[in-house]
Amino acid sequence: MAKKFYITTPIYYPSAKLHIGHTYCTTNADVIARYHRMKGDEVYFLTGSDEHGEKIQKNAELKGVTPQEFVDDIVEGIKNLWKNLKISNDDYIRTTQQRHIDVVQKVFTKLLEQGDIYLGEYEGWYCTPCESFWTDSQVGEKHLCLDCGREVHKAKEEAYFFRMSKYADRLLKFYEEHPDFITPESRKNEMINNFIKPGLEDLCISRTSFTWGIPVKENPKHVVYVWLDALLNYISALGYLSDDPSKFNTFWNDDSYILHLVGNDITRFHVIYWPIFLMALNLRLPDKVFVHGLLMMKDEKMSKSKGNVVSPDPLIERYGLDAVRYYLVRETTFGQDGSFTPEQFVERINVDLANDFGNLLNRTIAMIIKYFNGIIPHYVKPVTSFDQELEEVGKNTIALYKKDMEELKVTEAIMEVMNYVSRANKYIEESKPWELFKDETKKEALASCMNHLAGVLRQCGILLSPILLDASKKLFTQLGMDESLTSWDSLDNLTLVGGQEVQKGEPLFPRLKAEDEIAFIKSLMKA
Ligand SMILES: [Zn+2]
Repeated sequence: MAKKFYITTPIYYPSAKLHIGHTYCTTNADVIARYHRMKGDEVYFLTGSDEHGEKIQKNAELKGVTPQEFVDDIVEGIKNLWKNLKISNDDYIRTTQQRHIDVVQKVFTKLLEQGDIYLGEYEGWYCTPCESFWTDSQVGEKHLCLDCGREVHKAKEEAYFFRMSKYADRLLKFYEEHPDFITPESRKNEMINNFIKPGLEDLCISRTSFTWGIPVKENPKHVVYVWLDALLNYISALGYLSDDPSKFNTFWNDDSYILHLVGNDITRFHVIYWPIFLMALNLRLPDKVFVHGLLMMKDEKMSKSKGNVVSPDPLIERYGLDAVRYYLVRETTFGQDGSFTPEQFVERINVDLANDFGNLLNRTIAMIIKYFNGIIPHYVKPVTSFDQELEEVGKNTIALYKKDMEELKVTEAIMEVMNYVSRANKYIEESKPWELFKDETKKEALASCMNHLAGVLRQCGILLSPILLDASKKLFTQLGMDESLTSWDSLDNLTLVGGQEVQKGEPLFPRLKAEDEIAFIKSLMKA
């Protein structure tokens, strides 16, 4: 039965242009979404942008444009980037869209009426760039922002609050009953010990100090402050409380699987405040909040302000989309922090894609042309112990790949496939088809060898198709595979009936001259 699968990325804050670090989460989300679609699940994949707040208002003023013009410009760039990376999102939510504004205002009214929201006064240490208030103990003696490390200042204003404390026990009970809710688990303990156990503080959810936000209908000098506004995107995009709630009914019900991918800098908001808002609205909670790491520039967080940023666009232009997508999901274990270096980028392409994967295809096609006039030979039975061994590796690879993908271990899943590719290259050395070819009595063994190699490539093409969008198609074309042999349902059989005509094509991934390309990428990073 088709599962209903709802996957979201964080909505990005468009205060400047996005860099390769942002694409890390979105590309992984895309691979997970494509994997589920390939399996036959009904998928809804959402990304978007979080477009309100003081920082945007100020940046717009500096630029001499309206905040809306300011975010429109950046959002266009973000959408182009996702298009260039062939991100397969089903929707793009902007918190400045009317469909979202309506939901935020309706929710605010409902929560105010039921007493979860109250008017109070807020005094605290305020970090303007982060738009965050902090407590005395959080800013310490030096009065530094907990998120960005900049200096904070005292600020006080009338504000609406959400009664978080009321829900703390229910939240802890939910964690207990749903041990998979927060992944990795270490993040859960951090949340419980740092934020819930010391007493969950009520959350300030409005501001009067700036105007670029969704006005509180009941008191329009207030705008809704970031988290209530931003988090509701996950349900406003589905049509919650709208005239057409059909998507909401499909993807936010008890039968659907709901997955939020978040960076570790916004974990707290997704595993504490978001579940509590949902409880207050009497809605089901997500199945999983998966906290991934950040992609950095060698030892340093990649950031717009530090100027150590590489944009993915010139990389795509020069090396192709598949190489960039492969790097993004393979180099850094999804979930952990990683760092971008030009050396590793080039090595990944040369070693994994050009030498191992692309070369396996080239060798196989060349041999089938030479030994069997370009027709994949019929398969008889496992003829050698090498054939049998390879079949075992194939079965294990598929099982592990599925398990890893279900557990969001995208990097590990790819590594399983690439190990299978390496094993197949070794299988050629073991089987020595060039010797089999010279011996008339070894014709069957040679046929079996070619059939196995074509079969491995076909399986790897399917398994890598959520990542290598063009290369998997080119591989199927070169192997002469029709659609019935490229589907998920056809995955399990390693050996083929045979009879397909292969055709020699361009190498999937031309080998790069490492020194030249490293220098090129370095020049991009300085630009
Ligand atoms: Zn800050």
